[in-house]
Amino acid sequence: MKLQSYVMGAWVSGVGEGRPVVDSVRGEPVCSVDATGIDMVQVADYGRRVGGAALRAMTFHERAAALKETAKQLMAMKEQFYELSFKTGTTRADAWPDIEGGFGTALSYASLVTREFPNDSVLIEGEMEALSKNGSFVGRHILTSKPGVAVHINAYNFPVWGMLEKIAPSLLAGMPVIVKPATPTAYVTKAVVQEIINIGLLPEGAVQIVCGSVGDLLDHLNEQDVVTFTGSASTGQALKNHPNLLANSVPVTMEADSLNCAILGESVKAEDPEFQLFVKEVAREMTSKAGQKCTAIRRVIVPHALIEPVTEALKARLAKTVAGDPTLEQVRLGALVSAEQAQDVREKVEALCSEATIVAGGEEDMPLAGLSHNAGAFYPATLLRCDEPLSANVVHSVEAFGPVATLMPYHSLNDAVELARMGKGSLVGSLFTADDQEARAVILGTAAWHGRMLIINGDCAGESTGHGAPLANLIHGGPGRAGGGEELGGARAIKHYMQRTAIQGSPTTLMAITREYHRGAKEIHDAVHPFKKYFEELQIGETLVTHRRTVTEADIVNFGCVSGDHFYAHFDEIAAKDSFFGQRVAHGYFVISAAAGMFVHPAPGPVIANYGLENLRFVEPVPAGTTIQCKLTVKRKIKKARRGDEKPNGVVVWAVEVTNQNGGPVAVYDILTLVERQEA
Ligand code: NDP
Repeated sequence: MKLQSYVMGAWVSGVGEGRPVVDSVRGEPVCSVDATGIDMVQVADYGRRVGGAALRAMTFHERAAALKETAKQLMAMKEQFYELSFKTGTTRADAWPDIEGGFGTALSYASLVTREFPNDSVLIEGEMEALSKNGSFVGRHILTSKPGVAVHINAYNFPVWGMLEKIAPSLLAGMPVIVKPATPTAYVTKAVVQEIINIGLLPEGAVQIVCGSVGDLLDHLNEQDVVTFTGSASTGQALKNHPNLLANSVPVTMEADSLNCAILGESVKAEDPEFQLFVKEVAREMTSKAGQKCTAIRRVIVPHALIEPVTEALKARLAKTVAGDPTLEQVRLGALVSAEQAQDVREKVEALCSEATIVAGGEEDMPLAGLSHNAGAFYPATLLRCDEPLSANVVHSVEAFGPVATLMPYHSLNDAVELARMGKGSLVGSLFTADDQEARAVILGTAAWHGRMLIINGDCAGESTGHGAPLANLIHGGPGRAGGGEELGGARAIKHYMQRTAIQGSPTTLMAITREYHRGAKEIHDAVHPFKKYFEELQIGETLVTHRRTVTEADIVNFGCVSGDHFYAHFDEIAAKDSFFGQRVAHGYFVISAAAGMFVHPAPGPVIANYGLENLRFVEPVPAGTTIQCKLTVKRKIKKARRGDEKPNGVVVWAVEVTNQNGGPVAVYDILTLVERQEA
């Protein structure tokens, strides 16, 4: 069966013979993969023209809603993907982070956007920058969608998650994608894309998939396109140096295999919980996904005094690991993806043996549960030990992408730090210690070499997400050998597919572009109180200026008694005189409470509730006798998706400025209210 590609609105087959792909467990044919004859220039153009235009016409929230519903429907059909995944050699437990983790990542991104992004297509970043004396010329950063395509070249080990963690941020950013799965597991990726197309909630052209070589695609990308790559460091470097990508400054995010380390702290004793936690995590990382994880622990850095107990404990754990048919419940170690990958691991272990010796595994005649023989892709969990790691080279540079790790003893914490750095840049590192000072020393010494680090002790181990698991809200990527990329990490990942631009102009022009009120922009005044207006009726810049109120000694005393706040600055004449204030002043919280009393309209109305308060600054003290006044301006509006029986509503962010009798600000902040919408 030839695996088809979905391009330009149709499923098509390549015209070449194709690369055969076999079942990793039994070696039986699954499909052949080929994209010969597909016109890549047309594919990219279709993505930009059809998918890109449709996505950019949607707001962030509309894209998020389409992605969320798609991910929910995919989750409901997960069993069919597990069935396919067994053929790639993975157990159900190993496929979980790929399949359900993949759909969960898409859901996390969709909800992050609904929570944190505006219901608009332009994203504002940071605060307004004052650029002129009188405030008539200001600056701000905005991000807009790149009108290109994002080409995602994926690795074979995470055919579902690897695709989704890249396409979710791209689609949310408004950028169409061309997915290029790795050949050995392309049939799993294709099955998910097929369902995404069938679900039909993402616009046509937003998702295309090329199963097979991308041919001359990279030669035709332009300055608005983006490439991401996960796979071997050598292919990644070749892509980064592609002449057309260099000539057009096409961003290439690279996430490559790295020699991640786990360090057992110098303070840990064999009887401490951290010792067992360390052994368990190293063994788990070696065997899960048969060690084919870019985040797997490859270098196990252990205090010299504990090298023997750690070696013995790991050997005992690995000896209990059952290898074999991944569909069987007792199996913990599945197959590598292919006989070629097993051969590659064999060769890399041989190379490691120039500096290390095998202490467990290595032998190929491993027993396999549920199988009569090894069809070529099984490799035993193999532990090596290098006794002079500081003078070694191969153990820090050769990665056997399978169930293989190397133990390395160290004599001082400085040596442990040095060994971690010798990996020359990793995706992740972990430290097992209950000593927080030791943790600080190791993290500060090694963080610059890592994209993510976790510190495990008895307090957090129970709820730890583990060494090997990248998370949607934390950075995935690492410096140096790991490729220098940053994927995931919350909103950062989405911004990668958008162009950041500094805009400069008058506050009123910037308000029109960003749909956000900027101090100094034109205000709109109306006889109707803004709290009497529905969400749709409120205009950005609409302003209420309240009556005035003189703060009295009685206000200060009453507020102190109601709140119980008898801080000296409000109640001790002598101490207040000697203080920074020079006299007794009103409580800051009284000022904002009094302001609320001045600007609210007390009768029931479309304003449903006060939602919160942000960016509060008390600018000037307010002694008794100060006459305050406030200005309330519609700063930003966020239309919310309707939930359950809730009345349709939206969040209105109001800029509040409380001034004194001289017109100078005494308090500035934003308040958030939930306001009813008229339309359903
Ligand atoms: P590769 O780097 O060869 O392949 C990764 C992806 O790049 C695949 O989709 C591959 O497609 C594609 N590719 C390869 N050459 C080109 C090219 N010239 N232009 C465009 N795309 C290209 O990695 P492998 O999958 O072969 O694995 C080899 C090694 O990589 C492993 O042994 C391991 O060390 C490392 N690896 C690292 C991973 C990580 O997550 N960091 C994941 C997987 C592997 P195709 O498959 O069709 O060739």
